[in-house]
Amino acid sequence: MPEGDNVWQAATRMHAALAGKRLAQTDFRVPAFATLDLAGWTVLEVVSRGKHLLHRLTPPEAADPSAGSAPLSIHSHLKMEGSWQVYGNGERWRKPAHTARAVLRAEDGTSAVGFSLGVLEVIPTAEEHSVVGHLGPDLLGPDWDPDAAEANLRAQPERPIGLALLDQRNLAGVGNIYRNEVCFLMRVHPATPVSAVPDLPGLVAMAQRLLEVNRNRGARNTTGGFGPRGDSWVYGRAGQPCRRCRTRIQHGLLGEPSVAASSGAAVQRERDIYFCPRCQPAPQGWSSERAS
Ligand SMILES: [Zn+2]
Repeated sequence: MPEGDNVWQAATRMHAALAGKRLAQTDFRVPAFATLDLAGWTVLEVVSRGKHLLHRLTPPEAADPSAGSAPLSIHSHLKMEGSWQVYGNGERWRKPAHTARAVLRAEDGTSAVGFSLGVLEVIPTAEEHSVVGHLGPDLLGPDWDPDAAEANLRAQPERPIGLALLDQRNLAGVGNIYRNEVCFLMRVHPATPVSAVPDLPGLVAMAQRLLEVNRNRGARNTTGGFGPRGDSWVYGRAGQPCRRCRTRIQHGLLGEPSVAASSGAAVQRERDIYFCPRCQPAPQGWSSERAS
């Protein structure tokens, strides 16, 4: 699953490749927009908001300005499998063509192709709030606000921090890798209720710092060392020794309690957690029977 830094990188690459260019051809391979043709539109910018991507387009200049249409935004979300890739003129795609959902080709032949996108829609730019307005402060965005993020987390004090961090309404950009790494770095078990996290401001700051230092890196690395296979503290390291204390890293599953489902909270399916049982003691009552 993409993390906020992947999405930010995708937006940055596409912005560099397409901003200011006029589109010669577009192809939306989803039923609702299959007949939409945005040839002649200009790419104003490409931005990320949390894990959402927005290509903002300005309309072709109409002969009669009063007939001009309002700016549009292509809204996409990578979900689990999606990606956007940039290709030079005539370059061969690196993903199967049948998985392409959006093709944007500029007049100079540069193109951006969205593969296996989880969400793809074209909306008026003025209505972007309807698709990203629910997001909490973006860890990599111009609106980053640690105090607001912390307040959002505290609003559900009993919720496990490992789930609260993934809820993009609290803060936008953390995926499964970062939530595990941040919890380790702050010595907090992911199942710990938000109210019992000793240093929540520090945890929020850590999440932001990790995404920030990784956003321009080619390969994600949350440890800053340990060689080519040392790119994480706990994520994906079940059974291997903790890099701090040598205790075996454990794997478990963390999902939303059923009460949260009925209370209207965003229900998340169970996702993998990795933790060091010594550096990150589980909260009382946390069932380790599902941990392996
Ligand atoms: Zn440890």
